[in-house]
Amino acid sequence: SAVYSQYSFAVYALATQETGARAIVVPARELGHDLEAMRAAIAADTRVVFVANPNNPTGTWAPREEIEAFVASVPADVVVVLDEAYDEYLDPALRSDSIRRVREHPNLIVCRTFSKAYGLAGLRVGFGIAQAELTDLMNRVRQPFNVSSVAQAAALAVLDDRAYLQRSYEMNRAGLQRLHGAFERMGLEYVPSYGNFVLVRVGDAPGVYESLLRAGVIVRPVANYGLPEWLRVSVGLPEENEVFLRALEQALEGS
Ligand SMILES: *Cc1c(COP(=O)(O)O)cnc(C)c1O
Repeated sequence: SAVYSQYSFAVYALATQETGARAIVVPARELGHDLEAMRAAIAADTRVVFVANPNNPTGTWAPREEIEAFVASVPADVVVVLDEAYDEYLDPALRSDSIRRVREHPNLIVCRTFSKAYGLAGLRVGFGIAQAELTDLMNRVRQPFNVSSVAQAAALAVLDDRAYLQRSYEMNRAGLQRLHGAFERMGLEYVPSYGNFVLVRVGDAPGVYESLLRAGVIVRPVANYGLPEWLRVSVGLPEENEVFLRALEQALEGS
């Protein structure tokens, strides 16, 4: 079996299904991971636990100490996949040091991606850090040549581009403030986000989605996550955020 949280990244459910394993889906706490309940849900046949921090699509985040305590509490024969796809968007003081924890926990794998703050989603490149025993096992089942040489070259180049990452971080932070503030003023429920998107409750999500689409704005309906009244909107460039907010206001007036 595999353990993951309700409302967590859809790929965990797909990966579990793909292997024919049993999914143990742990109810969320205020839309975020309930780590204590996840620890308690680990069964005798559990081989892997997925934790997204920050999580997609909710944008929720758990502090370092909570993650550390959780990882330390998981039995040594259960792999913890700590997915930190959005770590670079966190305030520097909040960013994870889990990569160092890998030395202490042979069952921990920390995943990062170049698809988000590094802006290379189309190149399909990311990485995981774990002890050799675990990476050796993964190496046996991964697809051959699964990361192209072009993707690797781009990843290496962008790793050194501190200025790009900093701009990405700052633009996102400003965009989150803008969206959070606007939702506040509009009286819309939203989940304060630690990622590069915000989950917002609009009520008639299919209707609002359609209306936004007609205005040229594509957001993500999340009914498939069990959140039928919500939409997830990515932070865009400053002018894109304004186009979205105007279109959202019109959509809500019309509904
Ligand atoms: C985007 C994302 C990833 C990484 O996606 P890739 O583009 O496949 O590298 C991993 N986890 C979460 C939670 C994500 O949102």
